Amino acid sequence: VCNRTEAHAGFCYFLIMKGHPNCNQLIESLDSHCHHQLFKHGGWVELTSGQRLNTPGETTEYAYFPTGGVIALMMQQNMKKQMALALVGAEGMVGISHILGVDVESYASTVLTPSEAFRIKVKQLYAIKLKNSTFCRVLDKYVAVMYARFAQAILCHSQHNLQQRMASLLLAYSDCASALEFEMTQALLANLLGVRRSGINNVAINLQQMQILKYSRGHMHIINRASLLKVACQCYANDKDIYTRCFAI
Ligand SMILES: [Zn+2]
Repeated sequence: VCNRTEAHAGFCYFLIMKGHPNCNQLIESLDSHCHHQLFKHGGWVELTSGQRLNTPGETTEYAYFPTGGVIALMMQQNMKKQMALALVGAEGMVGISHILGVDVESYASTVLTPSEAFRIKVKQLYAIKLKNSTFCRVLDKYVAVMYARFAQAILCHSQHNLQQRMASLLLAYSDCASALEFEMTQALLANLLGVRRSGINNVAINLQQMQILKYSRGHMHIINRASLLKVACQCYANDKDIYTRCFAI
């Protein structure tokens, strides 16, 4: 955790103003008054792979604004079955319930790829939101984006085949990670998509035969992104589109 000194807060602010490549897009879109309020009450933390940022149904202390990496919002059906509602990276934040003044989430948030994040106590986040109309507007837009994404995830799960869904997920993961190559086990893919590993294996073989992917020992390489886009269902484009439309207003 950063030591929250004035100097460090100033440094964070400096990075944002200079268009530092590793910044959170929501924080970046705020004015200097809002930056000052946030950095007075929060600080930077390292998020590590596998770290759980909240547990469903339990009170959460912090909200997180990652500067990169991949965080999965996982809905759990039972001990064995779960699926990803959405992936979050530098474009978003973890803790949309907190924006609405609720300190409990119904899903788990798990870090898949490490990054740095701005962390703030949920009560302080809500208090700053109530006092700052710019921040309020940005966060409300983000809530609208995430509700649209959750609805899209439910439609995707029930209407689209596994190959389409896996292609969409890999594109979304690649966007968050800002990479065409990343570590991705079959077990993790099965968890994210809420299916058995055998199904993942069949799709991976098919996409390799189509020369879209190279996949070996948990290392994923998207070698033809344009073709992967053609295989993916419309949900990937819809998820991107809703973000662009909401934040263009
Ligand atoms: Zn879909």
